[in-house]
Amino acid sequence: MNYKIALIKGDGIGPEVVNEAVGVLEAVGEKFGHTFEFVDVLLGGCATDAVGKSYPDGTAEKCRACDAVLLGAVGGPKWGSDKPPEQRPETALLAIRKDLGLYANLRPATLRPAMADACPLKKETAEKGIDLMMVRELTGGIYFGKRDRYQTEDRGLECTDLMAYSEQEIERIGRRAFELARLRRKKVSSVDKANVLETSRLWRSVMHRLAEEYPDVQYEDVLVDNCAMQLVRDPGQFDVVVTENMFGDILSDEASMVTGSIGLLPSASIGDTAPGLYEPIHGSAPDIAGQDKANPIATILSVAMMFRYSFQRAAEADAIEAAVDAVLAEGWRTPDIAEPGVTPIGTKEMGRLIRAHI
Ligand code: NAD
Repeated sequence: MNYKIALIKGDGIGPEVVNEAVGVLEAVGEKFGHTFEFVDVLLGGCATDAVGKSYPDGTAEKCRACDAVLLGAVGGPKWGSDKPPEQRPETALLAIRKDLGLYANLRPATLRPAMADACPLKKETAEKGIDLMMVRELTGGIYFGKRDRYQTEDRGLECTDLMAYSEQEIERIGRRAFELARLRRKKVSSVDKANVLETSRLWRSVMHRLAEEYPDVQYEDVLVDNCAMQLVRDPGQFDVVVTENMFGDILSDEASMVTGSIGLLPSASIGDTAPGLYEPIHGSAPDIAGQDKANPIATILSVAMMFRYSFQRAAEADAIEAAVDAVLAEGWRTPDIAEPGVTPIGTKEMGRLIRAHI
């Protein structure tokens, strides 16, 4: 197959980690007989510097013409909150997700076998293993609802943020979760706050209707406060966890922490028609940019997700994940994950070792 891939290298360590991921793509292409056409897309602080705005005209069209999008990271102190919105990298990130209709964010939280010691939880909890997929609704809810700020007569300023969800929005993310569970251990945990919120009561009723359509998938409702607790008490109980935007934002960070390092975790944002967007969960790490210190594994594992979810090529995804596990099992570490006494290797060397294993 020939795949056309948009590369958004971005800012800070973005170009360094994307370059290693591209190397891995090429190694996979060689092994499995695929070719790639790469399209460089300017987005983020580097775009502000080059053309005066972080989300240049035509960005979404360029991405839509590709089979998938690989993003490094954007942002940095140079383009902070003192800049107008159109020059800020975060504006571009929200815009591209919205414009491509990427309503489902998939974040696996996997404790890789060689990294069990990095898990901050009790040893016996870590030993049970962690392999869950957080599915977060990405384009609705309170982050996109109407906001208001007004002066009251007796209580000073008052603000509101509206949380709204439609049946259609809930159903499409719910279906994603059930379909994903069928490819995994066949369990869906749906997280809500149905004892308080009306949006959650609608969420729950739609999920129950879907659960009847997927009798082969085990289903449970979990209140968000209980889920936060269970993620640190016994994360091994979860397979697919599906939830609305704000709960997912918070819980996915919690889930990633229990697996150790930010430099190891990939993510995918997908919609119904446009290409999926694959990116590490970490930011542009300006403190280590340009020093060959960044861990490229999260971006490389994002490429594995690209093969699995955009190209339906599980063997290629498995090969990348196995290569990462093999390099970690051999004891190779970038500085962010190096145990005391271990001499770390650089970004490029980590990429080279993973390519060699593929
Ligand atoms: P960050 O993830 O960039 O860095 C947090 C810490 O983790 C830093 O110490 C950094 O050195 C380290 N780190 C991150 N990725 C690493 C890697 N691959 N290898 C080794 N160490 C790594 O978060 P931050 O410092 O809060 O944000 C920096 C910038 O990135 C900000 O401008 C922020 O807005 C932006 N950001 C972008 C994205 C994105 O592009 N999706 C996500 C989060 C933050």
